[in-house]
Amino acid sequence: MIDAQLPLIDLHRHLDGNIRPKTIWQLANQHGITLPVNSLEQFIPHVQIQHSEADLLAFLQKLDWGVAVLKTLDDCKRIAYENVEDAFNAGIDYAELRFSPYYMSMKFNLNIADVVEAVIEGVSQACKVFNIKINLIGILSRTFGVKQCQKELDGLLAHKDHLIAIDLAGDEYNFPGEMFVDHFKQVKDAGLNITIHAGEAAGPESIWQAINDLNAQRIGHGVLSYKDERLLDYMQENNIGVESCLTSNYQTGTIKDLSKHPLKIFLARGLSVCLNTDDPAVQGIELKHEYQLASDVLEFSDTQITQLQKNALNMSFLSEKEKQALSNLKKVSIEK
Ligand SMILES: [Zn+2]
Repeated sequence: MIDAQLPLIDLHRHLDGNIRPKTIWQLANQHGITLPVNSLEQFIPHVQIQHSEADLLAFLQKLDWGVAVLKTLDDCKRIAYENVEDAFNAGIDYAELRFSPYYMSMKFNLNIADVVEAVIEGVSQACKVFNIKINLIGILSRTFGVKQCQKELDGLLAHKDHLIAIDLAGDEYNFPGEMFVDHFKQVKDAGLNITIHAGEAAGPESIWQAINDLNAQRIGHGVLSYKDERLLDYMQENNIGVESCLTSNYQTGTIKDLSKHPLKIFLARGLSVCLNTDDPAVQGIELKHEYQLASDVLEFSDTQITQLQKNALNMSFLSEKEKQALSNLKKVSIEK
């Protein structure tokens, strides 16, 4: 089903939403942090969605344990390293890993720019060991407000040469994109790419705003864009990519019936749309599982699956030269 001639790519994957339960357990023990249960086995349901009917709140609570054990910069570096190892083990050829340094720094009041540096170090070390290509996307966590996001942006821009883009994530409903126009003007001035979580908890107007006012080149989720014909046309004509995450949309309650996921509409209308994981450790899935879902539940043909893989390569924030190199590398390794 997955075309082995094409690279397997994950463009929407949260590094701080993909902390191994075992690592959370070990770090908690190491730092004397009290956990609600007495064994790793009992702990799993606290950090991983067990049933498909969890709502958004339950989903977000499960993310919180991961960052609650990050007491030192070495911990941040460790989870960054392990994220690359996990991507490698999942058969991924290229990923854009995103992280919110403020969210990671919060519990133990770490310096934001230092957290960014620790993540960059962990990722770069692991890339050499596993011989895989990874780029980093910095996240502004809108839920903590305008001022905190500015601090987060300052910490990220201090290391902008090691980042490929900036994203806006968190509570889209109560912290709309209008509040962050100035932040993304700075991102554009810094020469970084822009992707925005939109159309997940708020409607098409939130996606229009992300494109028009925040200069979004890609939209995370974009689920509710199907409600606006003009928006779908605009996104197709202007090559605005949609990063779809099937299991995530189901687990957060955004989509009740996966077989009716608008990914079908997006693909049929020629939008640049691809499959991604979101928070694999919390969701208990990996990227190949999402392709399996597209085939089994959405009943996509092999041609449609191939199109999703091609879209991921085209939508990536790699240069044209890098895209070509990644594509060639895959073909060469298949022929061997
Ligand atoms: Zn996300």
